[in-house]
Amino acid sequence: MIDSTPDAYQKVVEHCRQTALLGSVSSVLGWDERTQMPVAASEHRAEQMTLLAGMIHQRSVDPQLGRWLEELENGHAAADSHSDRATNIRILKREYDKAARLPQALVEELTRTAVLGQHVWQKARETNDFELFRPTLEKTLELKRQEADALGYKKHRYDALLDQFEPFELTENVRTVLNDLRKELVPLVGAIAQSKRRAPIEILGRHFPAARQEAFGRAVAARAGFDFQRGRLDTTAHPFCSGLGPQDTRITTRYDERFFPSALFGILHEAGHGMYDQGLRNEAWGLPAGLPISLGIHESQSRLWENLVGRRRSFWQHFLPLAQQSFPESLSDVSLDEFHFAINDVRPSLIRVEADEATYNLHILIRFELELALLEGDLPVADLPAAWKARYREYLGIEPERDAEGPLQDIHWSFGAVGYFPTYSLGNLYASQFFDAAQAALGDVDAQFAAGDFVPLLGWLRENIHRPGQCYSASELVQRVTGKPLSSGPLLAHLRQKLGPLYDL
Ligand code: ZN
Repeated sequence: MIDSTPDAYQKVVEHCRQTALLGSVSSVLGWDERTQMPVAASEHRAEQMTLLAGMIHQRSVDPQLGRWLEELENGHAAADSHSDRATNIRILKREYDKAARLPQALVEELTRTAVLGQHVWQKARETNDFELFRPTLEKTLELKRQEADALGYKKHRYDALLDQFEPFELTENVRTVLNDLRKELVPLVGAIAQSKRRAPIEILGRHFPAARQEAFGRAVAARAGFDFQRGRLDTTAHPFCSGLGPQDTRITTRYDERFFPSALFGILHEAGHGMYDQGLRNEAWGLPAGLPISLGIHESQSRLWENLVGRRRSFWQHFLPLAQQSFPESLSDVSLDEFHFAINDVRPSLIRVEADEATYNLHILIRFELELALLEGDLPVADLPAAWKARYREYLGIEPERDAEGPLQDIHWSFGAVGYFPTYSLGNLYASQFFDAAQAALGDVDAQFAAGDFVPLLGWLRENIHRPGQCYSASELVQRVTGKPLSSGPLLAHLRQKLGPLYDL
């Protein structure tokens, strides 16, 4: 049977590709702002970005787009619901309906509060003054409740906010999986803190000249599979990865000459994000079938390369000799075992972004539990600093003295990103689960890594994770690729397997 609406689909494709083009223009400006732009240009840049954001928003709520999508949705259903066409219609309609449910006045109020919120937060953090930030956070939470109510949800208000970063994911599921993780992780981290064995981290704080770090980082990223013909590496204060278009993926890092892991693992992390973007299908660009699934799945790719590959012993069997050639004065006396232990150092700390692979998820759990309680009104904002300290004591055995190292340390809440934090841990969980599946399919990955061969792993990721775009939701993809739903088991097994021998547990 011939589909009754070929024109409408073609029109939707053209419309959305053009919207995506505007989005990629905005990304170029955003990349430039963070890497090259002179400070004085910020006001003009803000005007350019606001203009583009307005144009993009208008196009995404265009009533004509809504009519086409409606016609397509009611039309002849595609035989394969995971085909590009069916995916594009399903996801675009869902996004259109969500955008249409938000009142213009609320969108503007959210935007205004987010811009002001970041300024207030910055000041509050600098002066360690939580009271200064409190009214802003209260207002933000009130607006997020209104936003969630406008968007709609079945069970939890938080579902509506989580969905903006991790589409189709539900609060209840995240809570269950993260609780499972916590029950095992808190005692594991506690046992490590009690262990007599200590990682020789002194070797990582020797002198590593920035220029040589950059050359080494580039070589590692290229060997892992980041395509420098279709990408760049630049320097910024806050590292990021930005996909500017189908053949243009930019990553950034920062160099600390007295701490080797920061740039190298930062590059591997961002290159992991970048390889995901480079693995999406060009012909589907600008439409859901050619877009990343979710923040959690994106983070799974960065964490997989950073932690599961980059902190693995076999990876350094290949790269340590090269690192020793690059930094002979700092690494020539270091053994593979010492180096491997040093880069897998675990210790409870107060700052999320500096946390190690094991304790990191406890930082996320604390934020997830607290923002859930804040949103649901179970925790008054005024009580947040005390609640923060209590959770840190309970999960990590330490607590911050200053709120700047407590609830004021992260920027997220200041611009209204409530529901964002769990995607970091989801990324870690997905990464372990995917890596196990890749290992089962590829055989002896350690022999491959030790030989500097990452082609099989990247090929597997391309085929199974990158190329499908949004044709599967995150939970469908996990089930499809690993045969199981999301679970904390693989991450816990991976941590135990690696850290048990290192810490003599
Ligand atoms: Zn990331």
